[in-house]
Amino acid sequence: MNKYDHIKYNCPFCASPNIYKYHQSDNGAQIFKCKSCKIQFMNPQYSDEYLAYYYSTYIRDETKIEGQLIKAQTYCLSLVERLKPQKGSLLEIGSGNGYLLTIAHERGWQATGHEIDCNSAKKVSERIGMDILCGEFTKLKIENTFDVVMMLHVIEHLKNPVEHIHTIYSLMKSGGILFIALPHIQSRSALFKLALEKLRIKRKNIAAYYDTDHHLWYYTPFTIRNFLEHHGFDVIKIYSGSNVNINSHPLVNFIDEKIFSKIFWHSSMGVIARKNKC
Ligand SMILES: [Zn+2]
Repeated sequence: MNKYDHIKYNCPFCASPNIYKYHQSDNGAQIFKCKSCKIQFMNPQYSDEYLAYYYSTYIRDETKIEGQLIKAQTYCLSLVERLKPQKGSLLEIGSGNGYLLTIAHERGWQATGHEIDCNSAKKVSERIGMDILCGEFTKLKIENTFDVVMMLHVIEHLKNPVEHIHTIYSLMKSGGILFIALPHIQSRSALFKLALEKLRIKRKNIAAYYDTDHHLWYYTPFTIRNFLEHHGFDVIKIYSGSNVNINSHPLVNFIDEKIFSKIFWHSSMGVIARKNKC
């Protein structure tokens, strides 16, 4: 099995040839950065074959952190509900153990999940009694359209985020809400982990700056906003932490993204966007 694809000479996001090697992880994975759109990405990336093998055993027993996951995911959904109080159809891409699907169903949503590995999807679907689609997402024939699409810590894993966002756009109703949770690669905690990694002071699972076991893309508020706006979404809010004001003034959002997101410790961010009506 080839672990890696061929190296890319252009940015997969904006096609610029101005990409350069930015970092190399301990496992040998190379991180490139685009001078034009600033996205960081693994280059070369893992092969499809390697990723299929990796994700065939990816869904783990999360019962020990179940309470924490349910609390966090309920909060994400509650933010969506402030914008979509009528609770229509919801698709979760990367539905894992099905916690969000179950929460959404209990709160009145018509929820559907998706998981790339069909065996894993089947097991979870049988356990929670809900529909979970499986296989390569961009190749599925889905006839429904959705009011809401959610991806919780998925977009950084995708081999082809550009194709995914086109597919997601086509599956969403006009004015639909897209919610994405993802790591913030320039957060204080991420930079602290990088410093530990560079100083060789680290413990397993503590210093995982790029998480190159499975993360292929490394976003900041700037790069995820650019990406979504370029593909037909209006970004409503990018936040980290809790107590989020969905309706804050655009100037407050700007300061949050430019300044506070770099000061606070949170390693993850949430992005709420709306599909353009045009
Ligand atoms: Zn680029």
